[in-house]
Formats: sequence, C-alpha cells, structure tokens
Amino acid sequence: MIHNFNAGPSILPKEVFEEASRSVLDFNYTGLSILEIGHRTPLFQPVMDEARALVKELMSLDDDHEVLFLHGGATTQFMQVPMNLLNENEAAAYMETGVWANKAIKEAKLFGHIEIVGSSKEDNYTSIPKNISVTPTAAYFHITTNETIAGTQWHTMPYDCGVPLVADMSSDILSRQLDFNKFDLIYASAQKNMGAAGVNLVVVNKNILGKVNRALPAILDYRNHIKEGSMLNTPPVFAIYVAMLTLRWLKNKGGVAAIEKENDAKAKLFYDTLDTLPVFKGPVAKEDRSKMNAVFIMEDAALEKEFVDLCKANGMVGVKGHRSVSGFRVSMYNALTIESVKALTDLMKDFAKLHG
Ligand SMILES: *Cc1c(COP(=O)(O)O)cnc(C)c1O
Repeated sequence: MIHNFNAGPSILPKEVFEEASRSVLDFNYTGLSILEIGHRTPLFQPVMDEARALVKELMSLDDDHEVLFLHGGATTQFMQVPMNLLNENEAAAYMETGVWANKAIKEAKLFGHIEIVGSSKEDNYTSIPKNISVTPTAAYFHITTNETIAGTQWHTMPYDCGVPLVADMSSDILSRQLDFNKFDLIYASAQKNMGAAGVNLVVVNKNILGKVNRALPAILDYRNHIKEGSMLNTPPVFAIYVAMLTLRWLKNKGGVAAIEKENDAKAKLFYDTLDTLPVFKGPVAKEDRSKMNAVFIMEDAALEKEFVDLCKANGMVGVKGHRSVSGFRVSMYNALTIESVKALTDLMKDFAKLHG
C-alpha cells in the first residue's frame, strides 16, 4: 500500500484515475479517446460546462463571478493578474508570506508599484503576519492563502481589506469553506488539490476587469476568456476532464463542507501527534499551521535520514521537505485518506519510542 504525501502533482481519488484512464481508451462509449476529440464538439462541450458549473456550485458563486480554466499554471497568473488589474502609476498591496508570494510579487513589479503590507521574512516564513492594513487606494490586495513550501495557511481571511481581494489558492482550493464571493479573483493550479497538471482555475468578479489602460494580448485578457466560455483557443482538454471528475467526486462526497471536516480531522491527528513527540518539531506558529502541507523537522537532524528510510520502507512517498528547506513536509490534500495519516502518525510514534 502506497501512502502518497506528494506536494504536487499529488494524490487524486482512485475513482478519478480509473475513469480518466477508461476515457483515454473509450470516452463515453463513443469508441474515441478523450484525447482525440475536438474541443468544440458536443462530446467535449458538456465536460467544460459541467466543470464550470461544479465550481460555481461547490463554491456557491454569485452571477458576478466567472469561472475559467486557463493554461499556464499559477505561475502565469502571477503576471496575468497585475497585467489585467494594475496600472503603471498605481500600487497593489501584497503579503509576503513565502516562496510563492515572492514569485507573485516579483512578477507584479513589472506592471506597477508594489506595496508589501506585511512580511514574515524575519521569522523565515513560519507565520502569517497579523494586524495588516491596506492603503484604500491600492488596486487590489494579493494573498497566498496557503504557502505550500513554508506550511502556513491563512485561517482568518482579510475580507474587509477595503480593496479587491486576490488570492493564490493553488494548494488549498476547495479544501475548506470560505466566503468565495468576497474574493474578486481566485486562482489555483489544478495539480495540488483538484486535478492533473496543465490547467489553472480562475474565478474572477467580472466587475473588476476593464480598468487598466495598457493593451492586453488577447490570450491574457480575462474578458476574452469570459466571452468565449473558456474556449478562446484549444483548452487543456484532458486536464479539464480530470478536474471535472475530481469536482464530481467532491460533490458526491458532500462538497466542501464535508471535505473540510475530513481535512480538519486529518490535520488534528497529525499535529496532535507531532506535538506529543519530542523528537519532532513543528517550526510553524501553531495558529498559522497549514492543514494541507505540514512541515516538521527533527530535534536531532542526524536522525532525518533514518526517518526518511523508515517512511520509504513503509510505502510513504513525498515525505521529505521541499528542496529549498530541510526536514519534512507531508501534504494532506482532499484525496488523502485519514488512514494514510494514521499510518504516518503510527510510524512517527514508533520512531519516537526508539529515539525518545
Ligand atoms: C504550486 C504552486 C504554484 C505554482 O503552480 P504552477 O502550476 O507550477 O505554476 C503557485 N502558488 C502556489 C501556492 C503553489 O502551491
């Protein structure tokens, strides 16, 4: 048995893999592969329609919020967001909470002034800054709701920041209930929590668009994608199909409220265990711990290799920390079962007994 704690691309429900692989061979009993049909056909159009409708339903979006599936990963959104929302003579507010936020900041600087309204750089990104205030003239406020590498997560949203709220939700999209209508733009690459790599979910309040005075390349102008129903050009059909299957799975499970309960239980089991075992240490401030990506280290770094080997021997993959940080990171995305978390925490307890 494999326990997949990979950070991304990452675990998806087994049912999704099964159905997606069947459809590669024979899509809906047509004798055709999902990979060989036109995107503007009566075969694929329902996939796109259902995927967009499921996002609307699962996030309870109002009619101002449009759902798009775009190319280029979240990294493209780092530049597409400021290109569409920020004039050169204006400022946008950003929170600096880690590697991903910094990448977004770097790209945004190409388009206008960037004001860093809070940073956790001082504590090595192990917390989320509190008591922030955003200049009312800022074009928007950008946050990274979950820092996949640092293992931090916003647990209280700055809904009342007074300016359009933009969020990179790549690693915690659809993992918990939020007031999604209070965000003006949400983006997430699919390969963490909602599908295969190759597609990006963008939810945008159409009322914030059309306010920049630069010329926008057609493919980078959100308004064109809205007008064309997310089919401006050939969309990443297979990745959208896998996302649609994952969204269907989520809906059948009871939606975001139901998955949030499971995610809470998994995170509680993991962190409660971590906190009782002195060989391990969680560097992240307790109130800012991520329920998706748990980062931990060892009190005695010399023991790290032994634990890595033990995990490997027990079928646990993706436990080692990001290449930019040491220690460990386990990702507990929607599709990971609590049984996998239990297997890991049992192993941690055994390890602690040996080295207590
Ligand atoms: C993975 C990740 C990204 C980058 O996504 P790509 O699809 O590789 O561009 C951006 N932001 C966050 C928070 C991520 O976890």
